Amino acid sequence: MDLKPFIREIPDFPKPGISFKDITTLLQDPTGLKATIDLFAEKCSDLNPEFIVGMESRGFIFGAPLAYKMDIGFIPVRKPGKLPAAVHAIKYDLEYGTDCLEMHQDAVHPGSRILMVDDLIATGGTAGATAKLIQTIGCELVGCAFVIELKDLKGRDRLPQVPIISLVEY
Ligand code: AMP
Repeated sequence: MDLKPFIREIPDFPKPGISFKDITTLLQDPTGLKATIDLFAEKCSDLNPEFIVGMESRGFIFGAPLAYKMDIGFIPVRKPGKLPAAVHAIKYDLEYGTDCLEMHQDAVHPGSRILMVDDLIATGGTAGATAKLIQTIGCELVGCAFVIELKDLKGRDRLPQVPIISLVEY
């Protein structure tokens, strides 16, 4: 099924020149939501992940139902200061300044097979940092899955050589 018709494009949001890909229209449509999770499961099952790692916050929306469907666990990667127990952290560069992502230390063990899931890959900054975090702690990143890929921004070039799945391309 083509998911593009479910995604709303808002020009000049949040600033001039950006075409915002709004997934709320996909989420609110039961056909769109179900097709998204089913397609992810179909395309990712061969990767045999043990866990899905989803990035705050839209990665949670897709990652948790996919984990449920694949019968595996879900691990949140969050902004600093949100996770209560000991964390692994990674700092990464933004256009202006830096940001940080955290994951609970006891969520995984070295060698865990992990599939990363997020709503969209643009420049690949967020996904690239999460991939590095996963690999630095000795886990095996088996793939990266996105609902949307903005091809021109070449975000996949910032990811390791693992299967990259995107359901809709712009
Ligand atoms: P990046 O780190 O540049 O790959 O951007 C990652 C995150 O920014 C995605 O997970 C999106 O939630 C958000 N994002 C970036 N560009 C857009 C866009 N054009 N439309 C909607 N969300 C975006």
